[in-house]
Amino acid sequence: MLLPVGAFIAAFIVGIVYWLSKKRLSPLGELTLAVQNREFIVHYQPIVALKTHICVGAEALVRWRRPDGSIVRPDLFIPLAEESGLILPITDQVIQAVVSDLGKLLVADRGLHIAINLSVSDLKTGRFLSVIENALDHTGIHNEQIWLEVTERGLMDIESARETITAARARGHMVAIDDFGTGYSSLQYLQGLPLDALKIDKTFIDTVGRDTATSSVTPHIIDMAKTLSLVAVAEGVKTKEQADSLAALGVAFGQGWFFARPLPLEEFIAFYHQSKHQYGASPDVLPRMP
Ligand code: C2E
Ligand code: MG
Ligand code: MG
Ligand code: MG
Repeated sequence: MLLPVGAFIAAFIVGIVYWLSKKRLSPLGELTLAVQNREFIVHYQPIVALKTHICVGAEALVRWRRPDGSIVRPDLFIPLAEESGLILPITDQVIQAVVSDLGKLLVADRGLHIAINLSVSDLKTGRFLSVIENALDHTGIHNEQIWLEVTERGLMDIESARETITAARARGHMVAIDDFGTGYSSLQYLQGLPLDALKIDKTFIDTVGRDTATSSVTPHIIDMAKTLSLVAVAEGVKTKEQADSLAALGVAFGQGWFFARPLPLEEFIAFYHQSKHQYGASPDVLPRMP
């Protein structure tokens, strides 16, 4: 009789201590544990050719899936990950997830591309380059199929960013500047960087077709992309009217809720096959600047 009671009390105490330790974990402690336990998954938001609506790829968007099954959006943990340096192993996990999720599809369709978001520390260290190289090794996936997205913030340390971007492009990756128009980039600044594409931030897309101060700026951003020989990609396309106007203005690619939200893997694969069935295969060669 005594033994089971003792065991029960011991288990109870262990339980309480465990609960307390969980409760006391700081946000950084929790994030560190999440990295150790590989709790990151990737959702895929389709990117389409605006003229044909053919799906040419997807943007990989990280989510933290907690042990209780709840999903945490990147805006809530990326800043802490960047501050703490945990972003480096998170980027590794995103790259590895992309290859294991979509490896077969990327090999089967050379016209398909996946864009990966990079942070300031990724650009500073350039570590992701060897992570990509190792992940792609023997898979048959081409470097050209992996796009990289850098924000204007990521370009603040301009010299190391330039070096990393140059190395990435030399390997065949296409590099896009993300959220364009929300940061500080001057034309001169952009001119000096070896980039392939410019993603126009959704604040500029929201107003397309409307008569506002911002909507009059959007065509200038598109012209600037042309002048700099950058492929334009519109973010946050929400309506058919926006998609059509942007196509008419010469924007090559778009993504946004009008086409699809960021999708869990299975839903993205279904979207891709449906798009291929409806609109045809993705073009083999994408406009790539020399
Ligand atoms: P981002 O790279 O600019 O990604 C686009 C964001 O816009 C995504 O938010 C996407 O869900 C959202 N979005 C797409 N279409 C629409 C639309 O039509 N309307 C509106 N209102 N929003 C739309 P998400 O997935 O929450 O990601 C937020 C940001 O977190 C990303 O912005 C990116 O900066 C960062 N992020 C996401 N994944 C990663 C990652 O793997 N690594 C790094 N370093 N950052 C990431
Ligand atoms: Mg992005
Ligand atoms: Mg963006
Ligand atoms: Mg953003």
